[in-house]
Amino acid sequence: MKSLSITIIIFLMLLTEVFADQEVYYNSNFERGDVVTVLIQGDDKSYILELVNSYGQYETSNIFFPVDTINFKGQVALIGLDSTLKAGKYTLLIKNDDGGIESTGEILIHENTFKKENIPLDHANTSLRTDPNPEIVSEAVQIHQIYGTSSFSSVSRLKSISLPILNGIITSWYGDRRLFLYSDGSSSAAIHNGTDIAAPFGTKINAGCTGQVVFAGKRIITGNSVVIEYLPGVYGVFFHMNEFFVSKGDIVVEDTVIGSLGSSGLATGPHLHWELRVGGVPVNPDSLLKNGLIDNSLIMSIVSSHTAE
Ligand SMILES: [Zn+2]
Repeated sequence: MKSLSITIIIFLMLLTEVFADQEVYYNSNFERGDVVTVLIQGDDKSYILELVNSYGQYETSNIFFPVDTINFKGQVALIGLDSTLKAGKYTLLIKNDDGGIESTGEILIHENTFKKENIPLDHANTSLRTDPNPEIVSEAVQIHQIYGTSSFSSVSRLKSISLPILNGIITSWYGDRRLFLYSDGSSSAAIHNGTDIAAPFGTKINAGCTGQVVFAGKRIITGNSVVIEYLPGVYGVFFHMNEFFVSKGDIVVEDTVIGSLGSSGLATGPHLHWELRVGGVPVNPDSLLKNGLIDNSLIMSIVSSHTAE
């Protein structure tokens, strides 16, 4: 038992940094597409989080919100690591409202590879991607405004998240490097920001997590679409549905049926495009599906360190 306690304490010394009155906790190893969770225990000030590398690339997040649960009381910050970031060392800066640095740390982003896929498009789908259309542009502006906002509410429980279709087949993954092959022989590159789940037409689609509907409507490229705010600034995005059954403002729980599977908008067959956005950045859902939206394994490591003392 003693050696276990020592191991836990050494482990925590490696991944935590203590400053002033607060304790700051975060993991230090990530891949592109992951979400960095930073916990500040027992504090209610507001902060800004920045990650900077030596090339000047950076990610910033003002998604700090209070969390008050049995296992953790304090503030949480989440920062999404875009799939196009360079791998390497990043400096983590925790700044106060005035821009002063309260704490610094280091995070390592490991190189990971993404699948490549070629997607042939027929004439109608080619036109959707290539014909200039100001409506498509304004729809894109509108949805990115939603992704960039955050309702700063307090969170009273840790949130688990599940795939919105449990018996589907995943046909495309987060971060896939795509080449759209147009009907006229030309092509263009794109990055796939979500997970595509294929299932029979009409299959029920669940919310996957508790949250509030912030968008429900028909869009030209993404068809019948729903966006749910799962946590302040953290969004679940559902595209290409046949129908949707929720409206803006609705509160949903994990198994609320929000729509049915279809192929509306630019789609080559019936599937759901499900995407997670953290502070506007599309992220890989894999570790969130395992550890929850607020990294439960990190919180439990704090709990066990206090138990060990
Ligand atoms: Zn997709």
